Amino acid sequence: MNSVTTTQNSWATNSDSVIRESLLSAIPESDLTIDGWADTYRFLSPERSARPGRWSTDLVPYLREPMRVVTNSDVVEVVFMASSQIAKTEFCNNVLGYFIHIDPSPILYLCENEGKAEAWSKECLAPMIRDTPVLAKLIGEARMRDSGNTTFDKRFPGGHLALAWATSPATLSSRPRRVVLADECDGYAPTNEGDPMSLAEKRTTTFTNKKILKVSSPRDELTSTIEPAYRETDMRRYFVPCPHCDEFQILEWKRVKWDDTTSDAYYVCVNGCLIEHDSKTEMLASGEWRVTNPQPTPGKVGFWINELYSPFVDWTDMRNRFLIAKRKGQETLKVFINTSLAETWKAGGEEIDTDDLLARCEFFAAEVPVGVKVLTAGVDVQNDRLECEIVGWGEDKESWSIAYRIIEGDPTKKQVWEELKDILTRDYECEPLDDDADIRNLRVAAVAVDSGGHHTHEVYKFTRSNAGRRFHAIKGANTPGKPLASRPSKVGTPPTKLYIIGTETAKDSIAAALEVAEPGPNYCHFPDGRDAEYFKQLRSERAVMRYVGRRQVRTWEKRKPSLRNEALDVRVYAMAALAILNPDFKAMRRRAQHQPLAAATVQTSVLDTPAETTVVAEDEPVISQPPVPNSRRARRRIRGNGFVNNW
Ligand SMILES: [Zn+2]
Repeated sequence: MNSVTTTQNSWATNSDSVIRESLLSAIPESDLTIDGWADTYRFLSPERSARPGRWSTDLVPYLREPMRVVTNSDVVEVVFMASSQIAKTEFCNNVLGYFIHIDPSPILYLCENEGKAEAWSKECLAPMIRDTPVLAKLIGEARMRDSGNTTFDKRFPGGHLALAWATSPATLSSRPRRVVLADECDGYAPTNEGDPMSLAEKRTTTFTNKKILKVSSPRDELTSTIEPAYRETDMRRYFVPCPHCDEFQILEWKRVKWDDTTSDAYYVCVNGCLIEHDSKTEMLASGEWRVTNPQPTPGKVGFWINELYSPFVDWTDMRNRFLIAKRKGQETLKVFINTSLAETWKAGGEEIDTDDLLARCEFFAAEVPVGVKVLTAGVDVQNDRLECEIVGWGEDKESWSIAYRIIEGDPTKKQVWEELKDILTRDYECEPLDDDADIRNLRVAAVAVDSGGHHTHEVYKFTRSNAGRRFHAIKGANTPGKPLASRPSKVGTPPTKLYIIGTETAKDSIAAALEVAEPGPNYCHFPDGRDAEYFKQLRSERAVMRYVGRRQVRTWEKRKPSLRNEALDVRVYAMAALAILNPDFKAMRRRAQHQPLAAATVQTSVLDTPAETTVVAEDEPVISQPPVPNSRRARRRIRGNGFVNNW
């Protein structure tokens, strides 16, 4: 068999076509569909499947039609937008196996990056070839020197499978390809040479019988390519019958319900019937794909399916993962929405409007409501005023807007800064936990002041002289994905610490938090008395895609140029101050349970200066403090009434 595969450009040579003919003569089923091929020839490998052995499409009946349409002569493009646990990798593998065995062609398999291409080749493709006898016969082992095969190139009689990755346009601009299979294509970042998917599609232009397969979980709404591609197709969805009323319906996350978190989740049919998870197998077997877009682009067929359908995952498990994701915050929730619900993540803050937020204002029983564990502040510097918000933070990023102040005046004058300092250093009265409890106060534990405007010098002066109170100079960087706070650098004379903060990251978090409708993790509380202008400013920006050179980048910008955005900026800065402070909320809770009036705990932030004094008391958590001031009076002030207050 090895003599077969040593020929270069094997699909193009005469000698190879002769060999191919002789091999195909042993295959009577040249009109097989892909699902038929898989049921006949495909074997699952033990390292890839809990049920190794012969493949059965009946176990995942929703894959039958997507596999079947690929070989339909009218179909050019198949889009498969699906969650992770739906066997979409096996869908890809079966397509490849079919084209290697039954309809040998030049094939391009496209991954997100080189690491994923290598992992896929070694962990998915190699075991499939090894354990599927018809493929093992056609493809020599990569380690055999004369097999003509490497990790990224597989040769077989009449064809060639090349692996490419989206981060390297060089791997895409090779020979013509009849079949292009783009796996996890929503993760392809644009390159300087252009969009990787388009580059790969260009490879197929010389083939009239080309096949383009786009397979992916969706990601961010703004950058998603799989969702727009799906919308161009006939948009098939898998309808399954209710086991009680027989009504055909698609399975949606909003219909998964539970009575309490310890009992099993169940599904509520569109007619109100309660469906237990045990019914899923029967429902899947009776399901059918239905077209939901009657006017698709000709030749394009699309399928969308989520994890609710997966025979490998039950609804209770999904519920548990959802609750964890919700508690952990937007990054984890995004993963759940993308990979379990197969929906794009919408972080643009489009759902909620100013009126919704205005209606949400609530009565705060004291300046600092119960739930707030730490206060931070953000300060924006304009030419004629300072704007400042004090934000209270609880566990799981639940937040309370404690105060919003505008200090009119020229920032080159000392007076506005004195006024700001008064606001930032005073005591804020906490709501007592019960009627008998002592009145407690909180002070602002960290402050971030924007130094990016015209008054950098004044900001440095202010933060330098209040460094012991954790007043930090910050500057925004709108680099996507940049962490909220990085290590500070030393700037100016005399030297001042400057933190560069990831404003895009903060704005993503704020937009997501504003969408949270119920108090709890990430929810934003606002006090009675906030006006519409405040909320307009808070929602003044949205995420958009913009070209920078030839690359499209995601960025936040104003909805209208005329809108003011200071309220959003100061919230970003208050959030950055919290990230720099990095308080340990769990330790606070533990201490509060044992010792309600004990001193606060602040983790020594990895971002903070190493020069701080760390005080460790016996059996006490670590309390880190800034350098102790020289004057005895100042020292007493910090010990007695620290920058981090009791709670
Ligand atoms: Zn029903």
